[in-house]
Amino acid sequence: MPLPRRFLTSMLLRREGDLFLFDCGEGTQVSLKMLNLRWKKITSIFISHMHADHVTGLPGILMLSSQVDREEPLYIYGPKRLGQYIQETRRILDMYINYEIIVREIEGEQTVVETDEYEISCFPLNHTKPCLGYTLTEHMRPGIFHPDKALELGVPKGPMWSQLQHGETVELADGSKISPDQVLGDKRRGRKISYVTDTAYLPGIAPKVTGSDLLVCEGMFEHDLAETAREKKHLTSVQAAQIARDAGEVKQMGLIHYSPRYTDRDLKHLLKEAKEVFPATFLCRDRQTIDIQYQD
Ligand SMILES: [Zn+2]
Ligand SMILES: [Zn+2]
Repeated sequence: MPLPRRFLTSMLLRREGDLFLFDCGEGTQVSLKMLNLRWKKITSIFISHMHADHVTGLPGILMLSSQVDREEPLYIYGPKRLGQYIQETRRILDMYINYEIIVREIEGEQTVVETDEYEISCFPLNHTKPCLGYTLTEHMRPGIFHPDKALELGVPKGPMWSQLQHGETVELADGSKISPDQVLGDKRRGRKISYVTDTAYLPGIAPKVTGSDLLVCEGMFEHDLAETAREKKHLTSVQAAQIARDAGEVKQMGLIHYSPRYTDRDLKHLLKEAKEVFPATFLCRDRQTIDIQYQD
């Protein structure tokens, strides 16, 4: 349930000009308004599962998005019945929506969105109904350009440098060809963000989130309630930390989706337990903003 200072689960990811919303619990639009982002132009929404605490914020977001003009459709991805939920809500509430909504019901492990620069994939979790975790993984980026090498090979400073940096082979006046790998360093890895919530502990989660610059993961219960967590198909903060540790190369993990039974002081205890297993753990707070930089 939402608490006065703790709303329900949602994560907004801004990448270049795109806004991706992961889950949309009740009150999400209030937080978005407080953040003063251009959130009425969300690019796509990704829903983990059809439980009220993850989708009851959707109707409000969809309605308010009609306050701005948009040409592009809004894509919404999630498990089955998502389409029915949106369709019925629109119909019964006579919602005025001035843009196209495209719902894609997805399941299992698959790439959901793929562009030249990144891909967004889902993978199955183990909850009381079909539930998905998500990753956004950027493709490898070109290596660093070495002007000295270019000059050495006879490529004059100018448009050819830019072509090489964009991965194109160039032809010199004498007819010889210079390829990008002759003047660029090793390819550099992109960034990766993972979002995992509402699941019993599954060894299969860790390999999916390997290499995350940020793993956002449910840490609903303290370690003493591991049995309750197992029955209700949720994670303890220690289990979240085990996932982060076992995945390998996870830079930091933010815990989300705390049981409402815990006060802010109790949460420090959940954090302490998790940090014993994975030190780079922190408690996510409402409207907290995290900037994720390239590692190299
Ligand atoms: Zn749930
Ligand atoms: Zn939930």
